[in-house]
Amino acid sequence: MDFPTLRSRLLAWYDDARRDLPWRTPRGQAPDPYRVWLSEVMLQQTRVETVRPYYARWLERFPTVDALAAAPLDDVLKAWEGLGYYSRARNFHRAVQEVASRHGGRVPGEPDAFRALPGVGRYTAGAVMSIAFGREEPVVDGNVRRVFARWTDDPAPAEDALWPMAAALVPGERPGDVNQAVMELGATVCTPRSPRCGECPVRGLCAAYAAGTQNERPAPKKARPLPHEDTAVPVIHRGGEVLLVRRPVRARLGGMWGFPQAIRHPGESASAAAERAAAEGLDLAVRAGAPVASVDHTFTHVRATYHAVRCTVVWGEPRAVRYDEVAWVPWERIGGYALPVAQKRIAALAALHPTGPHPLA
Ligand code: SF4
Repeated sequence: MDFPTLRSRLLAWYDDARRDLPWRTPRGQAPDPYRVWLSEVMLQQTRVETVRPYYARWLERFPTVDALAAAPLDDVLKAWEGLGYYSRARNFHRAVQEVASRHGGRVPGEPDAFRALPGVGRYTAGAVMSIAFGREEPVVDGNVRRVFARWTDDPAPAEDALWPMAAALVPGERPGDVNQAVMELGATVCTPRSPRCGECPVRGLCAAYAAGTQNERPAPKKARPLPHEDTAVPVIHRGGEVLLVRRPVRARLGGMWGFPQAIRHPGESASAAAERAAAEGLDLAVRAGAPVASVDHTFTHVRATYHAVRCTVVWGEPRAVRYDEVAWVPWERIGGYALPVAQKRIAALAALHPTGPHPLA
């Protein structure tokens, strides 16, 4: 590959065509590493338009490393609510707390020190080091992979080949802009379907364009069917209150609030599993009543169906046996708790008729 020519064409194109995004620093201004890092964490697996309002609200709420480090995890998860992949928020919070306590509140600009922070992988390190600190560190994400696959006309480029290629492209002036230019090209011109090769600044260097194979590069990965979990969710109410639990930090959706739950055993009814969820997770005897709703949600590695069942207490006081905390919450205050998307839907459906059967039941 002719990397010097690729670099210079990409930079010239980027200067002209880059989108004006809130996390991009105007030319001539020094980037704020905290903001660059935040944007990279939020943009993982998430579209730009989804991130925009979250990014703005986050900076109002947590404008600096110190502000975020001092915030309780509940507030952090509440600010992240709806953005998904909550481990990103937990890890970012922990990492920023380390920056505050061990690096004097200054995001470390040394790659090894930055990589040692919780949740910082190879991509995030490359992006923050190059964009915020001008270091010649490579990045490979989905856009870069697709662009490289087309430049080399390779249907299935191996990770082992992509990183050296990115590392060969980045040295020289403005390494952060070179990295952003490749990602921008992938996001706006060299798109997954129907790439706009007529507008591409590097089509003269693109092997797939020359071969006419750009629509077949990279070859689509075979989608593997996801495993399915059938989960019972007891919505336990008492007077005008409902029981919420906070999940252990290391569990899926850790640190977030929600209803208790238990995966159904083969042949077990949702009602029986809901009663078992309360017994095992809360040391509480409940009686299952009417179903509330069934809600589907797809995670990265699993599809889940939540069968929510209205329950009343038979005896006992709930104890956080399998959870970090339990709380009786008035229905009208549920909005103050950080709930995952599926649990929020269940809460909304259950709250329509908090003490009686759901009309669709
Ligand atoms: S010429 Fe087409 S396929 Fe090649 S990099 Fe440009 S947009 Fe992508």
